[in-house]
Amino acid sequence: MNCPACGHLLTPVDVSHVAVDVCQDGCAGIWFDQRELRLFDESSEDAGQILIALAREPRVAVDATLRRRCPRCPDSVLMRHFFSAQRAVTVDECPTCGGVWLDAGELDRIRSEYPSDAARRQAAELALEEALVPDRLALMDAELQEQLSYDTSRSRVLSSLLVACYLAVAFMLSGAVLALKMLYFSTVPWACVCFSDAFGGAISPILGTTRESPRSFVWFFGWLALLLPLIQLVIILVGILGMAH
Ligand SMILES: [Zn+2]
Ligand SMILES: [Zn+2]
Repeated sequence: MNCPACGHLLTPVDVSHVAVDVCQDGCAGIWFDQRELRLFDESSEDAGQILIALAREPRVAVDATLRRRCPRCPDSVLMRHFFSAQRAVTVDECPTCGGVWLDAGELDRIRSEYPSDAARRQAAELALEEALVPDRLALMDAELQEQLSYDTSRSRVLSSLLVACYLAVAFMLSGAVLALKMLYFSTVPWACVCFSDAFGGAISPILGTTRESPRSFVWFFGWLALLLPLIQLVIILVGILGMAH
C-alpha cells in the first residue's frame, strides 16, 4: 500500500495490537482503517512511541493542497473535513472504506484537543447549539414583528374611526371649515399612529431616542395628540358637572 501524500510504501506497525500503516521513510503520515483512529485520538489512550515520535524525512515534500487517493480503494478520492468542532485539524477520509489519513503532526494535535470522548461529544453538541442560536433569534424576531404589525393594524382602524368621528362632529357643529381644520390637525398624529415604523426612523434623531424605542414613542405621542380633543372634552364635562353641584 502506497502513501497517498508522498507515494512511499506504507509500513504496517503494531500499536496496542492494532495494525496501523505508517509512512515511515517518507512524509510521516499515518493511515487508519475504519474506526482505528478512535482507538488513538485521546491523550489518555496509548498511541505507542512509534506514532508519536514519527518524523518527516527532510527530503520528502508534501503538497497539502493536492487531493489524495485512498491507499485501499484507488478509485476513491479522500474527502477533507474538520476532525472536530474545534475546527483546528483537517483530516482526509475515504468515502468508500471509511479509512482516515493524517499528515505528520496531526495525530498529536487531535490528541491534545480534548481529554476524553465525552468532552469531544459535548463540544460538538455545543457547536450545534451555537449554530442554531441565530435561527432561533430570527424566528423570535419574526414572531415579534407579527405581533407588532397586528397591534399597528388595530391602531390604524381605531385611529381612523376616531378621526372620522371628529370630522363628523366638527362638521355637524360648525360646518366644513371646522371639519377641514380638524382634518388638518389630526393628519400628523393619525399618520404617527398608523405608520409609526416609517416615522420612527425619521423622527428618532430629533427625539434622541435609541433605535428600539422610536416606534413605540411615535405611536404613543400620535395617540396622545389624537385623544387630546377627547381629553379636553372630558375636562370640560367634569368642570360643568362640578359647577352644577
Ligand atoms: Zn508519505
Ligand atoms: Zn478507501
